[in-house]
Amino acid sequence: MNTNSFLSEVVQASGETLQACYQCQKCSAGCPVAYAMDILPNQVLRHIQYDHREKVLGSKTIWICASCYACSVRCPNNIDIAKIMDILRGISSRSGIKPGEKDVPVFHSVFLDTIKSKGRIHELSLILQFKAKTRDFFKDASLGWKMYRKGKIKLLPSKFGGGREIKEIFNSFEKGKR
Ligand code: SF4
Ligand code: SF4
Repeated sequence: MNTNSFLSEVVQASGETLQACYQCQKCSAGCPVAYAMDILPNQVLRHIQYDHREKVLGSKTIWICASCYACSVRCPNNIDIAKIMDILRGISSRSGIKPGEKDVPVFHSVFLDTIKSKGRIHELSLILQFKAKTRDFFKDASLGWKMYRKGKIKLLPSKFGGGREIKEIFNSFEKGKR
């Protein structure tokens, strides 16, 4: 295996022996969101084996994956495909390659920023930051209003005692990436 290849980058980051994939397609057959993907989970593995970096990192699939782990438990070779999808989202975010899904990566980063700054999700902050970044202010506005009226969206974040520990987790992860 070429140590500079995309395959070796994903193998090292995930610890998964994805070279063992023999394309039985059990992963894709059990994936609940396969219908919305542009390349199926088994095809993602094949493209990685062939070092098709841009094809994989620019796909919709890695952002549509719901991390349900159905594929991982079905794989006869014990390849943790859900973990590989997670690794691919991280590599894609840092790669500068245009993502196949426009809004999902934005939501992903806003979600993590909110957890980092507040220790837990505060829906209103999340929605406002997401809207500011996508500049799509009115989509789902009526749904948001209904949720607010039913008390599902709070104006202020609830108090949470573990904020410092959460920040430490983020800091140690970011140091590990350097
Ligand atoms: S289930 Fe495992 S071996 Fe089969 S195609 Fe998917 S990743 Fe490959
Ligand atoms: S973890 Fe992702 S790719 Fe695997 S079955 Fe679930 S949604 Fe599909």
